[in-house]
Amino acid sequence: MTTANTTGPAALTRGARAEATVDLAALRDNLAALRARTGGPAVMAVVKADAYGHGAVRCAREAVAAGIDWLGTATPEEALALRAAGIGPDQARVLCWLWTPDGPWRQALRAAVDISVSGLWALDELLAAVRETGVPGRVHLKADTGLGRNGCQPHDWPDLVAAALRAQAEGLIEVVGIWSHFAAADEPGHPSIQAQLDSFAEALAFAERSGARPEVRHLANSPATLLLPQSHYDLVRPGLAMYGLSPVPDVGGPADFGLRPVMSLTARLALVKTVPGGHGVSYGHHYTTPGPTTLGLVPVGYADGVPRHASNTGPVQIGGTWYRVAGRVAMDQFVVDLGGDLPEVGEEVLLFGPGERGEPTAEDWGRACGTLSYEIITRIGGRVPRRYVGGAAE
Ligand SMILES: *Cc1c(COP(=O)(O)O)cnc(C)c1O
Repeated sequence: MTTANTTGPAALTRGARAEATVDLAALRDNLAALRARTGGPAVMAVVKADAYGHGAVRCAREAVAAGIDWLGTATPEEALALRAAGIGPDQARVLCWLWTPDGPWRQALRAAVDISVSGLWALDELLAAVRETGVPGRVHLKADTGLGRNGCQPHDWPDLVAAALRAQAEGLIEVVGIWSHFAAADEPGHPSIQAQLDSFAEALAFAERSGARPEVRHLANSPATLLLPQSHYDLVRPGLAMYGLSPVPDVGGPADFGLRPVMSLTARLALVKTVPGGHGVSYGHHYTTPGPTTLGLVPVGYADGVPRHASNTGPVQIGGTWYRVAGRVAMDQFVVDLGGDLPEVGEEVLLFGPGERGEPTAEDWGRACGTLSYEIITRIGGRVPRRYVGGAAE
């Protein structure tokens, strides 16, 4: 076990209860590593869900500073927020893919945001907005190649392609992308992978035979970016990998792919006390001290994104030693059994980080809670201040 290094990248700001440190140099390095690994295709930095909890605008700016010229979001509101922050179409294309009826089509057109279309209802609403604003749309047609979520089913694809190309012929839109999304690229050898590659090739061939000339054909999320070069086409769309976590932990950890976790979560020990054996700890008394011991109070809870499923299991490092959550994680705090150790009140509690100081990682928390590192980082709450280090964009 390493000893705590309070001057390291995760060192807490004086007086802070808790902090998520976002290492923007790591973010840029991860993007460079992904580009080096993939070679030819362009890279879209996926910054949906507030850049998986890291801060969408800051991360988008760093990605642009690192030479990335595509950004991806789920909702149109997320895309518009990037434009409102000053990231213009000269700096990056922005694609958003999760539309609902009566969405902000006009605003997206005026902000030069690329629009994904999975069905005729969306094309109709978009065309109405184009006629009203006089601004032609840039459209990525999305095929459902097997995920069974968003995207157009193969039997509806000919109608969607034909309608989009008619609108293109009228000058209302430009079909700039044909794309899809994987169901199980994180499970190497899963039969759906080849089936989706084949289905995508068919959807693409049909669109091209019909006259579509997309600038970008794209299919690859993080696991496909790392493991499936045949899925790369013109553009890859990594999310998790750019935040330095492995989407395929059973195949390799971040370092195996040249990646470094970007977010560290640190809190400050709020109380240390001795208690007798047999003492119940936290709501419901789901932990009882096995003998006289010391307890440490960590002032973050599920309102901060520490999953309640971490009760009795989530790992932390204090002063170089690992401890586990004792009892339930509450809304604002949890307790660790320090086993007789007496760290100072105010000492740093490392919940997760890159692991370079021996601390747990978001992957460790995901495993402890029966979920993915994706969910751990994305849910770190708005009450936790973000501290940015290593930024190049500002
Ligand atoms: C979230 C998302 C991605 C990025 O996924 P990762 O597994 O984090 O790389 C790519 N494409 C689409 C459509 C997504 O929704």
